[in-house]
Amino acid sequence: MASRAVDAGQANGGDRLFARIGAFLAAHRLSPEPAHYAFAYEVIANCEGLVARRVAAITDGGVRLTTHDIASLGGSAVAGVPLVGDDDGDDVPLTGDADAHQAMMERMMLQLDGFDDTMRVVHAEANDFGRDLQRSADTMRDMGAEAGIEAIAALTTDMIQRVQRAESKLDHALRETEELRTALDEARGSARTDPLTDLPNRRAFDETFASLHRDTAVTVAICDIDHFKRVNDNFGHAVGDRVIRMVAQMLASEKGMMVARYGGEEFALLFEDTPLDEAAQVIERIRQVIAERRPRVRETGELIGTVSFSAGVAEGRVGEGRAALMARADAALYRAKDQGRARTITAS
Ligand code: GH3
Ligand code: MG
Ligand code: MG
Repeated sequence: MASRAVDAGQANGGDRLFARIGAFLAAHRLSPEPAHYAFAYEVIANCEGLVARRVAAITDGGVRLTTHDIASLGGSAVAGVPLVGDDDGDDVPLTGDADAHQAMMERMMLQLDGFDDTMRVVHAEANDFGRDLQRSADTMRDMGAEAGIEAIAALTTDMIQRVQRAESKLDHALRETEELRTALDEARGSARTDPLTDLPNRRAFDETFASLHRDTAVTVAICDIDHFKRVNDNFGHAVGDRVIRMVAQMLASEKGMMVARYGGEEFALLFEDTPLDEAAQVIERIRQVIAERRPRVRETGELIGTVSFSAGVAEGRVGEGRAALMARADAALYRAKDQGRARTITAS
């Protein structure tokens, strides 16, 4: 096997190309199907092309291409072929959010490349035009006014065509930037939003907290739904999800604080210029409103039972770091759980 590859590598150009395509297919665990071969051919025969450059970027550091990578680069991967490793388990196909994120990044990279190409073409056109203009001016000077008029007419026609071409390319580039901006906004939003509740996620919470001026008076709280595992166990995960959404909505309906989904059934609250007791009162009020609800399973009408949470609240001290403040809120939450749940405890 190895000696055949070496032989092929030392043969003429066609054989060399064939060998390199074979090596590419083997490296990425692609069977020699026409679709895979065509993709590999594009990457190897057109090594300066967009697809080859993107493949080089993705596989930098020895990463194998996934089915998804190939699809995002315009190729097609044949179903049933193990495209990702099954021996060392080092690369797992992307799924769900990660997959969508990867697809978005790929789309953005391709758009950036396209934009770059458009700008290069427009720039080249402008250069050509300047050069031709200079040449026509020289012709007019050498040949006199009469010949000059014809040259001017030809040049004008040519100029109009070039300007139109450049305009249409610029239009295209502008549309590309618009799309890119939209895609970036989407990516930025989805990276900071929890998809179940639509609340800001932990990352968004941490970023907002970090962006506050160091002199801002801050009070934080962590709320954790009580005995939530029982909801899942008794009614199923989908009902559990609805309970999380209900608590999220009730917390988010209170103005004047940031509410984020901090973990599974845990929410973090960020208050500015709100003393400890005032923050605790706000939380207690919401907790009681939730406790008075009698949620039922939509499909069966079955009562889910009282939904409660426990909360720990802590007010920032001068010079205290964010992690230390969150840890004090977390410790207070633990005390609330210890003391029987369904309560709010303030950190001393
Ligand atoms: P405690 O009162 O001590 O907080 O008890 P608990 O049952 O709420 O706490 P525990 O940490 O034992 O269980 C939390 C459960 O929440 C475990 C996990 O399966 C579930 N969970 C986490 N995220 C989600 C989610 O997004 N949806 C659903 N349905 N369940 C989730
Ligand atoms: Mg929890
Ligand atoms: Mg819990």
